[in-house]
Amino acid sequence: MNFDVIIIGAGAAGMMCAAQAGQRGRRVLLVDHADKIGERIRISGGGRCNFTNRTVGPDNYLSQNPHFSRSALSRFSARDFLALVERYRIPYHEREHGQLFCDDSAQDIIDLLQRECGQGEVQWATGCAIERIERHETDDGRRFEVATSQGTFRCAALVIASGGLAAPKLGASPFGYKVAEQFKLPVVAPKPALVPLALAPETLERLQPLSGASFEAETRCLGDKRRFRENLLLTHRGLSGPAILQVSSYWQMQEYTSSKKQPIAIDLLPDVDVPAWLESQRHSNALLANLLAEKLPRRFAHEWCALFDFDKPLAQFAKRDLQAATEALQGWALMPSGTLGYAKAEVTLGGVDTRALSSKTMEATAVPGLYFIGEVVDVTGWLGGYNFQWAWSSGWVAGQAV
Ligand SMILES: Cc1cc2nc3c(=O)[nH]c(=O)nc-3n(C[C@H](O)[C@H](O)[C@H](O)COP(=O)(O)OP(=O)(O)OC[C@H]3O[C@@H](n4cnc5c(N)ncnc54)[C@H](O)[C@@H]3O)c2cc1C
Repeated sequence: MNFDVIIIGAGAAGMMCAAQAGQRGRRVLLVDHADKIGERIRISGGGRCNFTNRTVGPDNYLSQNPHFSRSALSRFSARDFLALVERYRIPYHEREHGQLFCDDSAQDIIDLLQRECGQGEVQWATGCAIERIERHETDDGRRFEVATSQGTFRCAALVIASGGLAAPKLGASPFGYKVAEQFKLPVVAPKPALVPLALAPETLERLQPLSGASFEAETRCLGDKRRFRENLLLTHRGLSGPAILQVSSYWQMQEYTSSKKQPIAIDLLPDVDVPAWLESQRHSNALLANLLAEKLPRRFAHEWCALFDFDKPLAQFAKRDLQAATEALQGWALMPSGTLGYAKAEVTLGGVDTRALSSKTMEATAVPGLYFIGEVVDVTGWLGGYNFQWAWSSGWVAGQAV
């Protein structure tokens, strides 16, 4: 019942940390309330796990403390994880934006982590509910006591790797935030991120004819410089697709700084110099919709022009109509009414405040021996393998320190 290290949460970060600590000779217990481990890895990337990205840096993450991730990401980088994948001869491939996926199955990554844990002689307690955590100062140092449904365990170092709140069906829980609160550590209010955005009923009614349209666009949050060029999808509930998921995290981020959120702006023709293109077509008798249909899906082009009353030949456009068309094409502004919530989110924005943690070890500076790693921490990656890389990097650095 006595361990050097207990890790709560056998997900991506927890398994990486356990393997490292075990391979360093620590006696490690990895606890999870789920019966089956690594479920989030299993379903990730459409079952093929986008396990990292060719280029990873702090700019690919959102946090109240934007430089916090730098140290861990450089000590255990995307290249280091890729080397591990190659050592296990896991076939993989690269997709757009440097995203790396398994060729066969996400199970390959789970097997890799389990074998790494095996090499560290990590002990497992699955289907194990945590009932209580206590910290005691003893004559020979500090000790944590973890009371669970499978008995009481003791350890010198306790690592919280219980993830965020996204995808609650897969065992997500607010456990990590509660532990932080118990030890009086600050938590940045969690919010769903990488999540589809909802539109108000009156906007949805107006956009109803566009529902189902999908095309590449560039999105940004008004007031923010970051732009995401990916696929966008209009649904019967609002906006989705990678271009929206990416920008959703920045849209949610605004709540920390401002009480009034800004709309999302969509550049429908990111490759086109729109003013020059419209000017060149100024005397055309073609409908704007027909010209647009050469660059966007036909049905979308027609319905979108109808929405703006642009359904006339370009030659009949007054100067102010041209100006309005230019602005709408380059920055179609839509104000989301909210998100589709944790059930549809890939990750959680916010979490244990990094200002209370060491960026080198992930240890809580005010509570020696207590560590937080992975998604439970206020470090949230872009879509594209960045969230797993954070789990590997933060898990690895804590694994060297415990
Ligand atoms: C549908 C979907 C697809 C995704 N695809 C990708 C992708 O392709 N690439 C990418 O980079 N990211 C992806 N992500 C995000 C990625 O899965 C997470 O960022 C990552 O899993 C976080 O790792 P973690 O170890 O911190 O937490 P998790 O992997 O969530 O692991 C936390 C573990 O803690 C356990 N736990 C929770 N509460 C308790 C408790 N009270 N007691 C005991 N145990 C507990 C859970 O059962 C779980 O096993 C995806 C997410 C979703 C929802």
